[in-house]
Amino acid sequence: MITASPAARLSPSAPDWRDLWRSAVTDADELLRMLGLDHLAGMLPPGDAGFALRVPRGFVARMRPGDPRDPLLLQVLPQLAERDPVPGFVADAVGDLAAREARGVLHKYHGRALLIASGSCAVNCRYCFRRHFPYGEETAAAGQWRQALAHLRTDPSISELILSGGDPLALATHKLEELARGLADLPHVTRLRIHTRLPVVLPERIDGPFLAWLQALPLQKVIVLHANHANEFDGAVDAACTALRGAGATLLNQAVLLRGINDDADALAALSERLFAAGVLPYYLHQLDRVQGAAHFEVDDARAHALVEAVRRRLPGYLVPRLVREVAGDASKRPL
Ligand SMILES: *Cc1c(COP(=O)(O)O)cnc(C)c1O
Ligand code: SF4
Repeated sequence: MITASPAARLSPSAPDWRDLWRSAVTDADELLRMLGLDHLAGMLPPGDAGFALRVPRGFVARMRPGDPRDPLLLQVLPQLAERDPVPGFVADAVGDLAAREARGVLHKYHGRALLIASGSCAVNCRYCFRRHFPYGEETAAAGQWRQALAHLRTDPSISELILSGGDPLALATHKLEELARGLADLPHVTRLRIHTRLPVVLPERIDGPFLAWLQALPLQKVIVLHANHANEFDGAVDAACTALRGAGATLLNQAVLLRGINDDADALAALSERLFAAGVLPYYLHQLDRVQGAAHFEVDDARAHALVEAVRRRLPGYLVPRLVREVAGDASKRPL
């Protein structure tokens, strides 16, 4: 019997993801023009305040033209409200700098270490909690992983390695291969988890060479997608998810609860249903990290709780994400 490889199910004529990456929209006026929203240009903040607009064209294609409240647009469009200082909203909202153990290694929770694998993202999300993180100094890939792997070797309690960022799938596949070779010396690491937004915002990244790498990894594999709204899915995202599962990965999703984007029970239930249709289970629904510039996205805890309860009344338990907040110094994410 001939079994199709996961890659074979993806279109052979798909454009190279690096070209799509480079051709992302980075100009707010252009984005608004593409959506027929030119009249909003005067309401944008001047300059980029160190966190530029960036969004792949395929993701723009999933936005509703003419709708200034589109839930995908609001995730990427700079707002004047970002410039208002709000007490309690700070640069390092979750204590990342204090949890740093080696170059690019964050270790907060038992058994799991997180590598800041890359400082780049295909999309810049306005609510991002790492928007002020000093990536230049802190990516584990920068020194061919040596420091990070040497550190992990000293701690046999670590059984799960988490690749995060930035977006770890921003790395070239040969960089990931280099990491995999280093992991061969770490018998205590049995699981690799990848937190990424790329299969959703740039599904072309899930190409043949990447899938071959993933499939060959002699570890258990978990991929945590970051999608916040059902509209982020389309046929290309579904195909990427199918291919990832075909390469042996368990797929989970974490979302951030965002005012004006997904803070209603219908949107949250639709997200869970859409995730499951793509073969992805909801994992976490995060309360916003209180990072400078993101206060306008915050939903208070009482409402967050009521929203998740409303979803619970509507959906099977396995489609209800865990509502959590990250609190610096805690031994795990904090359930609400
Ligand atoms: C969120 C996070 C994890 C993962 O936590 P889980 O509850 O296992 O999903 C691990 N390490 C760090 C530093 C984190 O911020
Ligand atoms: S780290 Fe994640 S949330 Fe932040 S900008 Fe990159 S993709 Fe968006």
